[in-house]
Amino acid sequence: MSRLDSFIRRLEAQRQCLEFGASLISGEPGPVFELGLGNGRTYDHLREICPDREIFVFERKVAAHPDCVPDPTYLFEGPIEESLPNTTHRFGGKVALIHADLGSGRPDLDRRTSAFLSTQVPVFLRPGGVVLSDQPLDFPQSRPIFPPGGIAEDRYHIYRLEPVEGA
Ligand code: SAM
Repeated sequence: MSRLDSFIRRLEAQRQCLEFGASLISGEPGPVFELGLGNGRTYDHLREICPDREIFVFERKVAAHPDCVPDPTYLFEGPIEESLPNTTHRFGGKVALIHADLGSGRPDLDRRTSAFLSTQVPVFLRPGGVVLSDQPLDFPQSRPIFPPGGIAEDRYHIYRLEPVEGA
């Protein structure tokens, strides 16, 4: 497969997973978290497919396309290792969908980011909430969900936070 084909496949898989994730939470209340704004492509798509939801963006340093820079009310700039825990009191247990696209291509760094995110995702998701991640995560009460449409399992990672029995 050429690198062009691989790139196209990656973006198609990303779009399909975002749309799948949005369908999984339809009917559930709660905001969306976009972790890693980059140039704003996936944020822009989330805005399109989740028009009625608040979307909060976490990004170390904003360098997105000008049309895709969130209003400051919806933006937390800085390392997520600091910004995410600072919002627990506001969003803990309320978030319907988290999209994490933080991959750096450096396996050591990405493993550390995944380990950190695995501690945070169950804090923020509401029961039944969904996380879509470019990196594998490992957290209690996670139910892995196969990506749609024959997307390779290691291309995107999807988990739902199991509701607590009897809650
Ligand atoms: N989804 C984006 C898009 O469609 O344009 C691309 C995201 S890009 C692959 C990853 C982004 O995550 C980068 O902008 C980087 O600055 C951000 N990032 C990576 N690690 C981070 C961290 N620990 N805290 C905050 N932002 C981080």
